[in-house]
Amino acid sequence: MNYEKRTTLKRLTRYSKKCRFCKMSIKEVDYKDLANLQKLAGSQGRLFSRKRSGNCATHQRSTKRALKRARFLALLPFSD
Ligand SMILES: [Zn+2]
Repeated sequence: MNYEKRTTLKRLTRYSKKCRFCKMSIKEVDYKDLANLQKLAGSQGRLFSRKRSGNCATHQRSTKRALKRARFLALLPFSD
């Protein structure tokens, strides 16, 4: 991909301004909420960065905790 194409793609990509958990007015991310957790983790089982997920700082921390709990209970893999 050349430089010009990359910049146009970057301009076209729109990020939502609000964090998804703030939108749903969820205080703490639930470790049983696998649908949301899987969206925020890549195929390798790693949590996406704040920039990629669009989470606010509070909910990123909450998601981190929930993901670790889900891993411990074998709901999600540690790695793939
Ligand atoms: Zn938030």
